[in-house]
Amino acid sequence: MAYEVTLIPGDGVGPEIAEATVKVLEATGVKFNWDRKDAGAKAQEMFGSTLPAQTLESIKRNKVALKGPVTTPVGSGFRSVNVALRQELDLYACLRPCKTYTGAPTYFNNLDIVVVRENTEDLYAGIEFKCGSPEAGRLIKLTKDTLNKTVRPDSAISLKVISETGSKRIVEFAFNYARQNGRKKVSAIHKANIMKYSDGLFLEAARGVAKEYPDIEFEDVLVDTLCMRLVRWPQQFDVIVLPNLYGDIISDLCAGLIGGLGLAPGANIGKDTAVFEATHGSAPKYAGKNRVNPFSLMLSAVMMLKHLGEREAASRVEEAISQVVFEGKDVTYDLKPRRDDPSAATTSRAAEAVIERLRKS
Ligand code: NAD
Repeated sequence: MAYEVTLIPGDGVGPEIAEATVKVLEATGVKFNWDRKDAGAKAQEMFGSTLPAQTLESIKRNKVALKGPVTTPVGSGFRSVNVALRQELDLYACLRPCKTYTGAPTYFNNLDIVVVRENTEDLYAGIEFKCGSPEAGRLIKLTKDTLNKTVRPDSAISLKVISETGSKRIVEFAFNYARQNGRKKVSAIHKANIMKYSDGLFLEAARGVAKEYPDIEFEDVLVDTLCMRLVRWPQQFDVIVLPNLYGDIISDLCAGLIGGLGLAPGANIGKDTAVFEATHGSAPKYAGKNRVNPFSLMLSAVMMLKHLGEREAASRVEEAISQVVFEGKDVTYDLKPRRDDPSAATTSRAAEAVIERLRKS
């Protein structure tokens, strides 16, 4: 039986890493029917929407998608398709494992940290008031009337929304993940000393949930302290659970600890639907150059295989990638000791090297 999977190649470097990943998945012997769908600027041109109904319908029907990155214009232009997708499908948990593979350029060995990022609320909720708008004016007045706090009239305002429901379910997700995957500790991250109500609620929810998992160690850590401890003693961490914005930033930091974005996979998981995508974005300057590392999307596909119950195929792909990284010959520029190394492999060559090892396994 073939798995029906929605495939969103995305834009920028998305199509080239998606193609490389599909080839590797097909070399495992597991069968897929790819339902190719568009999102982003190209979809806007073709269907008049950056997230067309048929793309959403396909993911809802198949319940599993593999997605390349999609560009979001900075400052103005359309809102993030990635954020919209997570909100529309209530993919509330963003799971980003950061594990060192021997041979990758890192300062630390044997790291195996899992970042669990809340995916639907916080400053990412998209509730913003434009500078000078009547709505911003009303909010500024309300702030003065209710809190007696002055906000400069030339301010733009974004709301940081943290709910008890959203906080509890992401922390429960982190603890369940820890239990199911033999993890020992969960660290909940916040800035509740300053944002007493929003981060305070997240912290309170985390402490409450932790009591239900006495077998797992729990700690709470201020986000600034976390940054220092991560770059100094990353081995102290196991599963880290964070609100949306901190999660976004910390997962890039953790990607840096394990050798860069080229090795950082991810999954956006909801009650019954999951979208697998790399941590990195569309890296526009490399688009069409066949240069970037396809391993982060391939490792996201490893997570997808596990999600589908194809554990053996998942291990084989991960092992093949790990061998290619270890040997260091057929890796892209980002995994070479020098980024201008002329022997760096292309995206497609790196994929072929993985396939060659898969065939031998
Ligand atoms: P980015 O992650 O696309 O790239 C930053 C830099 O990281 C690149 O210039 C490159 O040097 C390196 N890099 C990224 N992926 C790599 C890979 N696979 N192999 C080797 N090197 C790699 O970040 P950005 O430039 O800030 O964002 C570009 C666009 O992507 C923006 O529009 C942003 O909104 C979007 N984005 C999309 C997603 C998503 O689709 N989930 C996630 C993050 C950013």
